[in-house]
Amino acid sequence: MEIQLIESAADKTEADAIVIGLYQDAAPSGAAAAIDNAAGGLLAKLIERKEISAKRNDVQTLFAVPNVAAGVVAVVGLGPKEKFDRRAAFEACGAAAKKLAGKARKRVAYFVADGWTSEQTEAGICGVHVGDEGQDLFRAEKRIFPPGEVCWAGTDRVAAWQGQVIGEATNLTRRLVNEPPQDIYPESFANRAADVAYECGLQGEIWDLDRLEAERCGALLAVARGSSRPPRMVILRHDGGSRGAPTLALVGKGVTFDSGGLSLKPTDGMLTMKCDMAGAATVVGVMQAIARLGLPVNVIALCGLVENMVSGRSYKLGDVLTARNGKTIEVHNTDAEGRLVLADVLSVAVDRGAASIVDLATLTGACVVALGLDVAGLMTNDEAWAGRVRAAADVCGEMVWPLPMFEHFNEQIKSEVADIKNVGEGRWGGAITAAKFLEEFVGTTPWAHIDIAGPAFREKPKPFADAGASGQFVRTLVEVARGWK
Ligand SMILES: [Zn+2]
Repeated sequence: MEIQLIESAADKTEADAIVIGLYQDAAPSGAAAAIDNAAGGLLAKLIERKEISAKRNDVQTLFAVPNVAAGVVAVVGLGPKEKFDRRAAFEACGAAAKKLAGKARKRVAYFVADGWTSEQTEAGICGVHVGDEGQDLFRAEKRIFPPGEVCWAGTDRVAAWQGQVIGEATNLTRRLVNEPPQDIYPESFANRAADVAYECGLQGEIWDLDRLEAERCGALLAVARGSSRPPRMVILRHDGGSRGAPTLALVGKGVTFDSGGLSLKPTDGMLTMKCDMAGAATVVGVMQAIARLGLPVNVIALCGLVENMVSGRSYKLGDVLTARNGKTIEVHNTDAEGRLVLADVLSVAVDRGAASIVDLATLTGACVVALGLDVAGLMTNDEAWAGRVRAAADVCGEMVWPLPMFEHFNEQIKSEVADIKNVGEGRWGGAITAAKFLEEFVGTTPWAHIDIAGPAFREKPKPFADAGASGQFVRTLVEVARGWK
């Protein structure tokens, strides 16, 4: 969605709708003040009578406002001014966009960014993209109609463009997750990633079954075996930095459908399992943004793509797998497959000379139990590196929280017959024992693992975004890449 920058006055702008923002406990300012003046103090009156609120993400639509050219004025609450940040900008713009997208409109103009920083403008425009796109891909009666034209009042051309790039990347991630598993499987996902790479100038390679066998990816291949869809590994490279500069590796779990395998999931738990490739989809979105922004850094992305299915060829409980790095793994639960896939992908990242790694995975239900639906778990072998990742998430307003990686958790993944087993003892601390498993495959490379099982996919909509894929952590990883040297 292309963003048009405009400089006309809010009250004079011809559009189906204009959006203005209000801070809590403050008189209308900027464009809101201009509309208030044009309309003879209408906004101030409505605020006084508590007919409109400036509470975060509240959106009220006013019709036929006197002396205002646009047919609709949408007033979005920005919350308290002193607490306004990138997250608030993202959500407020998303909320306004989503509300206005309830019907088809030709032109919507945003007059919210008075006094915003470039970063807040970028986040706001990203929010508009997210609010304007729904998950109703196959409904004849759509619920969300993106407007024909989106205009943004402000002169920060670079920030507006960057917001558009990151917004489009976020929606690419969301679309890949939202599309059904009959359409998104390892081969088709890899082809989509190849299209993205071609369009934005990334280097890329796709490993097919033969190559994965030649590379001894025994853990990933075992998970893939039960499906008639062969696995893939996608490797994308952005060489924006100087030759020899350190490489940042982004690794994504791409289980395009997770039935649980022989440790079969019940229907309720399986229903949303098309989202088990959200880590890989996030990584592809981030790479598109990094390439289009032309960031002066070297980044490699690796996605492990399999379908975890049931057949006579499925891997079994008690099987012993040999991972690419030579470690042997006893299988205790075929639904703990993500870590088996990531084991081999992480070892490829290490072999490709990654200086630091971030992996994203919808890895454990235990992480959702610990932190809820909106917060991702952050686990690491290197506090300094995880601190940088966390700082990037904080500044973007995407929520991560550290979980401890104490030594004694290692005991829980020891196996009687192999080096390790693929689950801990019982279900306690399951997010951490999963991370402890992954740690076995990164060697000494600084590594941060983000368990996005909660935030990747929403069963219910938010005021600022439809239900379904969230696209969360695209912004965080772009921020990590921007700070990479
Ligand atoms: Zn699983």
